[in-house]
Amino acid sequence: MGDDVAVMWFRRDLRVGDNPALVAAAEAGRVVPLFVHDDVLARPSGANRVAYLHATLDSLAADVGGALVERTGVPSKVVRAVAAEVGASVVLAAEDFGPYGRGRDDATRQALAGDGRLLRFVGSPYAVAPGTVKTRSGTPFKVFTPFSQMWRQDGWDDPVAAPDGVRWVRGVGSDPRPETPSPEATEGLPPVGEHAAWEAAEQFLSERIGAYKEDRNRPDLDRTSRLSPHLKFGTIHPRQLLALLGDSAGATTFATELAWRDFYADVLAQRPDTVHANFVDSMDVRWDTGDAADERFEAWTAGRTGFPIVDAGMRQLLAEGWMHNRVRMITASFLVKDLHIDWRRGAAWFMRHLFDGDVASNTHGWQWTAGTGTDAAPFFRVFNPALQGRRFDPEGDYVRRHVPELRSIPGKAVHEPRTGADDLFSGEASSYPAPIVDHAAERDEALDRYRQR
Ligand SMILES: Cc1cc2nc3c(=O)[nH]c(=O)nc-3n(C[C@H](O)[C@H](O)[C@H](O)COP(=O)(O)OP(=O)(O)OC[C@H]3O[C@@H](n4cnc5c(N)ncnc54)[C@H](O)[C@@H]3O)c2cc1C
Repeated sequence: MGDDVAVMWFRRDLRVGDNPALVAAAEAGRVVPLFVHDDVLARPSGANRVAYLHATLDSLAADVGGALVERTGVPSKVVRAVAAEVGASVVLAAEDFGPYGRGRDDATRQALAGDGRLLRFVGSPYAVAPGTVKTRSGTPFKVFTPFSQMWRQDGWDDPVAAPDGVRWVRGVGSDPRPETPSPEATEGLPPVGEHAAWEAAEQFLSERIGAYKEDRNRPDLDRTSRLSPHLKFGTIHPRQLLALLGDSAGATTFATELAWRDFYADVLAQRPDTVHANFVDSMDVRWDTGDAADERFEAWTAGRTGFPIVDAGMRQLLAEGWMHNRVRMITASFLVKDLHIDWRRGAAWFMRHLFDGDVASNTHGWQWTAGTGTDAAPFFRVFNPALQGRRFDPEGDYVRRHVPELRSIPGKAVHEPRTGADDLFSGEASSYPAPIVDHAAERDEALDRYRQR
């Protein structure tokens, strides 16, 4: 171990365990752990994610013995200045494959090179880094299933242990941290930090993985891992989860979900323009704009569309900053196919509120639903909210949990409250809005627009 100094630039890998870049930094010498607050990333993030990030940084700071240096500014300038200040010959980080991250890292590499210093990437936030899984002819995949088969076949590295006895450099000054906003989620922050991530993972793997294949689509049961904010900020790495999964139907299904995460990162790295552009150019449908569309959009965001499963999902998002995957699909489909509103508007709303908001998974989750993306749901498949509700929330518990006005309506009748007995739809339930659109008519309208594109 040399006596050189290395800067460990933490970005979305805010953990000490299984962090190959940190291992490399510790091997290089004494380590200055650095986080750069970057307004370009913070501005569009929404209060929930910024508050979660700050809490995660507190946890990381404790895990690095208080040595974490927080600075604010343009990353290429800040990293260059810190490296010069501490006399580091190398800056280590996990590689970022997002459209903004790549540009930022190129600028930082150049800035450091100008001073004779090195920016070195070790690892990435993915089990398999974007650009690694390729078809036999060496091209990137555009369809999930063959991607996931190759992903499994090629495999991933084993986790690496947290480095022993890291020699953290203390006393390097931080800037005052940008103000922490109050989270918009009325239920506050979900569990934060590397230790909480492990607790959640261990609980999921011991109690829920067995039935994951059957139960993962049931928002009423809430049986998924809820690890997405941890995966987003890297307080746990997918490789660590894959190493513990074992061999069961639930484990295979869970690994497939992690493969979706890697797939969408791979697709975004291939096609950075798809943050805004349709992945399939020809799927350019006509969207509604103007006052009436704005009113409908507002009803959707507030969970007041009169479609109970949609409203439950949108209210879960406001309360928890998280929404169950099945309901993300239902609410997204409703915005695009029942309200004819551009998927980009919905994606931006999700990004504002989700603690796990991730450009690749969110953009391509939306594009999949809108029929504009990879493996897109065929455009003629339009989710019927009442049928989806009855199938995936068969007793109506999820709707009653999030839409209190409907609590007096028993069982699955809650999915179509106005068609039940009149005496049920009275009292508090009468304050629940009437459906803002006619699903059958809007389905036909959506099909026309998709055919005309
Ligand atoms: C319209 C839409 C928007 C979405 N936006 C996001 C987003 O911004 N951030 C995000 O992390 N996920 C997003 N997803 C994917 C998925 O809904 C969430 O990852 C999942 O609900 C998180 O809950 P969990 O951790 O309990 O999931 P689990 O079922 O426990 O899955 C484990 C992990 O696998 C990954 N995963 C699961 N499903 C998917 C998927 N369909 N696509 C990509 N990765 C997946 C996630 O990292 C997740 O944490 C979106 C899906 C849709 C349909």
